[in-house]
Amino acid sequence: MKELEGICWYAVATVRANGKAFASFYEVCVSKMTKKIIKSDDEWKKALTSEEYRLLRKKGTEVAFSGKLLNNKMTGTYVCAGCGNPLFSSETKFDSGSGWPSFYKPVAYDAIEERGDRSLFMKRTEVLCEKCGGHLGHVFDDGPEPTGLRYCINSGALHFEESEQQAREKGAKKR
Ligand code: FE
Repeated sequence: MKELEGICWYAVATVRANGKAFASFYEVCVSKMTKKIIKSDDEWKKALTSEEYRLLRKKGTEVAFSGKLLNNKMTGTYVCAGCGNPLFSSETKFDSGSGWPSFYKPVAYDAIEERGDRSLFMKRTEVLCEKCGGHLGHVFDDGPEPTGLRYCINSGALHFEESEQQAREKGAKKR
């Protein structure tokens, strides 16, 4: 890790000295060190649907009650639509009445990043995917027990992965 840090600082200095030429080398170093996904704006545009791009990369908000996962009651994991990072479990999903999928905690607190957000004349806490930096939604302190938190997440920023057990049970029923 120490060596990588050294390489990175060398890369920073090189980038500063030589401009763009070594920028991609620096980004590879950072992503290797932190396991973060770093893509250019153009790469994200190509990788995502226009709605996913608007939500995840431009901090958009989907229209309330419009999201495809709002009323999803299946058992499984909600992953980042940008990078597949597991974010929320169906076990922590609840109906908040807000119009956006709501969870009382993430699968792991290092799966997400929380950041102060003062946009739109409000003081809120933004929730981002730790791995790719994609904007997911906001967290509020009016959620249910046991955490008292409400992670209010754009449906379009998520993909749903059904649990293996549920998929097996469905398969058995079809036979
Ligand atoms: Fe992500």
